[in-house]
Amino acid sequence: MQIEASLFREIQDYAEINHVPIISFEGASLLVQIVSSSKPLSILEIGTAIGYSTLKFIEHMPSDANVVSIELDNERVEIAKAFIAKAGAENKVQIIAGDAGSILPQLTGPFDLVFIDAAKGQYLDYFKKIEDKLSQHSVVIADNVLFRGYVESNEAPPRRYKTIVKRLREYLSYVTDHPSFNTHLHRVGDGVAISYYRGKKSE
Ligand code: SAH
Ligand code: MG
Repeated sequence: MQIEASLFREIQDYAEINHVPIISFEGASLLVQIVSSSKPLSILEIGTAIGYSTLKFIEHMPSDANVVSIELDNERVEIAKAFIAKAGAENKVQIIAGDAGSILPQLTGPFDLVFIDAAKGQYLDYFKKIEDKLSQHSVVIADNVLFRGYVESNEAPPRRYKTIVKRLREYLSYVTDHPSFNTHLHRVGDGVAISYYRGKKSE
């Protein structure tokens, strides 16, 4: 569906003023490319924030597709809903308020595309919780996997980021070494990992 460029600008302005970490411009272009080429009918987004990436998906997904998006922060949930309503896209997305770690096990799927962009230390936990809910030929995208450059740096990160950086490295190793996934790391924005699911080995 078509969404006004002015609405995206309004969301970007809100994000900048209120320090909401929406995906980078290059990262968003990558999302758009993947959605346009893979034509997912069911999308799961982990980390809605204020609905910027959600609306990027909605803009480019097939007209009969839908999105489920999870967000912990209630205020952000309300703002996302308002922006989505402004786009006239309320019927395309279900926003679930709460902790993704406890909501994911309740979802049934199958999902054609999963976008991981919530708590940076929890990516591997999220991945393991959605792994068996993926359809054949699906794709898992993770944002911020290079975390300000620390993930690929030899220098020790500041103390407060130590655990996040360690866990993001574990996430990248897991998806890279996983026999059922083909992972590409894009060094744009804060780092975007794209893992293509090849289907179960036996199938
Ligand atoms: N995908 C958005 C940006 C998401 S920012 C975009 O690119 O436009 C990350 C979001 O994850 C934040 O809004 C934060 O509140 C949310 N978050 C953090 N921990 C979470 C959790 N445990 N469960 C669900 N959402 C969480
Ligand atoms: Mg992000």
